[in-house]
Amino acid sequence: MTGTNWLVAGGGIAGLAGALALATRNVPSLVMEQAEDFAEVGAGLQLGPNAVEALQQIGAWDAVAPKCIIPPEIHIHDALGGGLMQRVILGQKFTDRFGAPYRVIHRAELQRGLLEACRANPLITLQNGAGVTSAVLTGDSVQAVLSDNRHLKAPALLVADGIRSKLRKEMFPDSLVEAPPYVIYRSLPALHTLPASVNAECVNLWLYPGGHVVHYPVGHPLHLNLVAVTRGILARSSWSTPANGEEVANYFSRACPALKQILGLPDKWLKWPAANVVGMSQWNLGRMLLIGDAAHGTVPFLAQGAAMALEDVAVLARQLARTADPAAAFAATSSERLPRVARLQAESLRSGRVYHMKGTFRNARNMALRFMPEASFLQRLSWIYQGY
Ligand SMILES: Cc1cc2nc3c(=O)[nH]c(=O)nc-3n(C[C@H](O)[C@H](O)[C@H](O)COP(=O)(O)OP(=O)(O)OC[C@H]3O[C@@H](n4cnc5c(N)ncnc54)[C@H](O)[C@@H]3O)c2cc1C
Repeated sequence: MTGTNWLVAGGGIAGLAGALALATRNVPSLVMEQAEDFAEVGAGLQLGPNAVEALQQIGAWDAVAPKCIIPPEIHIHDALGGGLMQRVILGQKFTDRFGAPYRVIHRAELQRGLLEACRANPLITLQNGAGVTSAVLTGDSVQAVLSDNRHLKAPALLVADGIRSKLRKEMFPDSLVEAPPYVIYRSLPALHTLPASVNAECVNLWLYPGGHVVHYPVGHPLHLNLVAVTRGILARSSWSTPANGEEVANYFSRACPALKQILGLPDKWLKWPAANVVGMSQWNLGRMLLIGDAAHGTVPFLAQGAAMALEDVAVLARQLARTADPAAAFAATSSERLPRVARLQAESLRSGRVYHMKGTFRNARNMALRFMPEASFLQRLSWIYQGY
């Protein structure tokens, strides 16, 4: 079957946002999602000003904004002593500086907001139960083969099938998913079950020797998105392997009482292994373009996974304003995005090493954090928040 719709393989954050970005250039698309429905899965995602700006550019912000939570501040604590080492105020001054606000959201609510925007757009068709098993370039088009053996021909294909992308492996056989030695635990206790002593309003980061913990509020009704990163190896690549709370409690056994109390709250944990896509020198192959985690899945230590996916498609929309030729727009998007995302991947890994420092390195890091003025701290992050 041949159509004028561009194809999008994968209906996660990148795929849905990709379809919206195409629609801003009047390009119709068909999003093919392998899952039978757009399941409400995952936990919290942070949307820095760069992510919010990208959502604004693809026309999705109005649908997503009401689902976000507005955290007043970011707090960084030492997890052994419990002291507050750095504090960033996320108020109007922050928004003015970076041109957009800082928000947090449940992944399922971000996906729901994108879905609402897609469903309201006549240029976008969504199809569930549509796994894309392979794709080939055929002259001036792309042919995708679906798991039910349908063959679809289209002017172009966005590949957004996540970090374990099958299609990336076909397009770039040398690409690899590395497994940095981290296991990430997550839980979502209901906010009303938390004692008043827990700082549930802010984005909190606790630095522990060999690990770290992040928590912030998400969802309607409100829950605490609680993520604990440990060093370790997990063979199962699933996002949602069940985990035992004792694993987390034992790992953080030297934490201060306040953090131990927080880690003791959930009765249910899930875990997944850190992963990092490497070996990519381009994301485009003719009329096919990798976007989101399929192109550059990374460890989540700078909280930029969703943001990078959203930036990808905002840049694609910009490139499509310059040329209607998909191959040229894809090549330009790939060249523009690669250096920034490579830096982000490297800095995310480096952040893990800094967060997990021990002994004298930890002492020096803590001193630096305690005495660094908030403005200097923000200056170090400005390449992320306003760099695309
Ligand atoms: C189930 C799940 C839970 C997650 N939970 C968290 C979390 O708690 N915290 C966090 O920071 N990040 C989480 N993420 C990752 C986060 O969503 C991404 O890092 C980021 O948003 C980039 O999204 P993406 O669309 O590139 O990839 P993903 O969000 O992984 O989306 C990929 C989509 O492609 C679909 N797909 C895969 N293969 C095919 C195929 N062959 N054909 C058609 N469709 C296909 C998948 O079903 C999925 O819907 C989760 C991802 C998933 C899939």
